Amino acid sequence: MHKYIIMGPAGSGKGTQAKLLCKGYDLVHISVGDIFRWHIGHKTKLGSKVQRYLNQGRLVPDEMVADVVKERLGIHDWRYGFVLDGFPRNAPQAEFFLESFDIDAVIALELPEEAAIERMQSRRLCQGCGLDYNLIQLRPKVPEVCDNCGGRLLPRDDDTPDAIRKRLADYREKTAPILKLLQEKELIVSVDATPAPDVVQAEMRQRLGLVEVEEPVPVGV
Ligand SMILES: [Zn+2]
Repeated sequence: MHKYIIMGPAGSGKGTQAKLLCKGYDLVHISVGDIFRWHIGHKTKLGSKVQRYLNQGRLVPDEMVADVVKERLGIHDWRYGFVLDGFPRNAPQAEFFLESFDIDAVIALELPEEAAIERMQSRRLCQGCGLDYNLIQLRPKVPEVCDNCGGRLLPRDDDTPDAIRKRLADYREKTAPILKLLQEKELIVSVDATPAPDVVQAEMRQRLGLVEVEEPVPVGV
């Protein structure tokens, strides 16, 4: 059983890394963002509540996030463990959560601000089908045209450098007390998110003790 929390600023590839880790070890990816998106897409009661906050440009309240996570973990479909993404949202939640669940480690993806800005500015969104492109790593076959539906690819409205800097600063401010608490409990495993996704993943697995470090093969024996 492996129970992890993953944290990282926008642009750190948190979702991708969580998915890769889950795939490799049969873990369940519990993403608060995905759960909310599902509810919005299926027009549930919770979805319309979340949509209202987003429309007002506000964050979904921490307690609401906690309820969703509690309910999701209560399904108990995570036989081999989980990777929790988007929770805890504040230090008291973290404290309470750690008392209830025996977390193995908290993966903290680290990305310098300039790299995060560059990555987020290279994002493109299809106006037709909503597919997400990253012009550094996932390029469309024809520039500015969606591979999937032929729609036009445009940057997101909220991906201006100033808006990105503000989001990163908000993220740092909000996560600092959580990280401090987790640091005290010696749960943090920091991973540099700058390299390519497969390199980051390999580094993460090694740091988590999931793979043995290969001994170099002696030459000429
Ligand atoms: Zn498209």
